Amino acid sequence: MIPANKFQKLKFYLNLTNPLIDRKVRVCRTYGRTVYDHLVFLERSQWWTPEELEVFQNDKLKRLIRHVYENIPYYRELFARNNLAPGDIRTAEDLHKIPVLTKYVIRKNFPDRMLAGGAEVTEDNVRRTGASTGEPLVFCGDYRSFDIAWASFLRFYQWIGYEWGDKEARVWGFPIITDGRKAPIHQRAADWLYGRYVPNRRYFDAFNMDEEKLGEYAAELSRYKPHILRGYVSAVTSLADYCRKNNINGIRPKAITTTAEMLHSSDRKLLQKQFSSDVFDQYACGECLGVAYECKEHKGMHITAEHCVVEILDEHKDETMPAGERGRIAITDLDNYVMPFIRYVNGDVGRLKKEICGCGRGLPLMDYAEGRITDMIRGANGNVVHGEFFTHLLEEMGWLEQFGVRNFEAVQKDRNGIHWYLVCDTRPGQQEISELISLCRRYLGNMNIEVHFVENIQPTPSGKRRFTRSEVTAGS
Ligand SMILES: [Zn+2]
Repeated sequence: MIPANKFQKLKFYLNLTNPLIDRKVRVCRTYGRTVYDHLVFLERSQWWTPEELEVFQNDKLKRLIRHVYENIPYYRELFARNNLAPGDIRTAEDLHKIPVLTKYVIRKNFPDRMLAGGAEVTEDNVRRTGASTGEPLVFCGDYRSFDIAWASFLRFYQWIGYEWGDKEARVWGFPIITDGRKAPIHQRAADWLYGRYVPNRRYFDAFNMDEEKLGEYAAELSRYKPHILRGYVSAVTSLADYCRKNNINGIRPKAITTTAEMLHSSDRKLLQKQFSSDVFDQYACGECLGVAYECKEHKGMHITAEHCVVEILDEHKDETMPAGERGRIAITDLDNYVMPFIRYVNGDVGRLKKEICGCGRGLPLMDYAEGRITDMIRGANGNVVHGEFFTHLLEEMGWLEQFGVRNFEAVQKDRNGIHWYLVCDTRPGQQEISELISLCRRYLGNMNIEVHFVENIQPTPSGKRRFTRSEVTAGS
């Protein structure tokens, strides 16, 4: 995958340090080195036996446990309360001795008691998530974790048949607030460099998906003929559905990869049929990236065992479930030393699989059984936006930190009305609320938008989290 030619190599490094995702000028700082090193390593380690991978994983786990015990106040006290010493956690099977980590616990202890001694919240390490869950979180990331997760993603691209230079199309959320809040010059320079030297990628806005736009996207994709099509599940399936209805059959990528939401088998079938393409799912959460990816055997998703431990817990108690049983997913990120996530329960439901994959990789398999679903929202002006629009909006407006948004839901009640339900630590002022409403209207037309501040948000009767919900049925 790594090209030999010097110029191509530079492009490759630029690709590794994708500033559109990272939003930092890592091009200058690391020149892609660490990601590159991780990728070379991961290309090798994927063929290790499950036992060899376990030894490697347990070594990393022991190092992490020693680190949290010595440097993180929250964990030191947690260990003391539970009569635990670092020596009690020697393998992934010992993890059950440590109580799970939830968003509630993080909010109570962040930042003072969650960060490693000496670490501070900076613009460089702060991360804000909430996309796909409706439960935003502010935390600190670690480049060690980011780099290996990014390398695991590139390894996944090798699995799906990506070759350096392949054309890629992404159906993605574009920035919502662009006027008057320009990105810093170094970031714009990085974006320019990226756009100039890594031209084989085109973006399609998932926040503008009305019929007319879908028509334009389909026409451009038919001309562009991407090798890889990637996007949010409901955005890519909307596109596939449009192509099916309008008999547009010229888009034939060799692989489609979906993310951010659960991929139902009906979605997979639609994508396979409409685009005559193989579909690959992946699993991660905003706090722990690069967790699991599907290979060509489609027997489940291979866990990136070199980077994280995935456990499945009983749906009601914090007991670990054996492989084959379904339950709540708990993730331990072995590479975030700034703010470690150990047994982080993110609300998703899944299953570890007993089988060894036919592809020959020793990486264990998992299934993502239940979790995030979002509805597409249709504005009074006919525009259709992907549900991530609402999370991006709160994030871009700075509400997550400024008002401590803990949970939210955006519900389309009818053709002309959207109700926001927000659980906040502090209530925003009238001016901020008006700004939120006017930004919504810019995308969705002159709709009746109501903002409600509530104590809590009940899950839907099925227990599934659906942070954007449309009660409008097709044709109504
Ligand atoms: Zn496999």
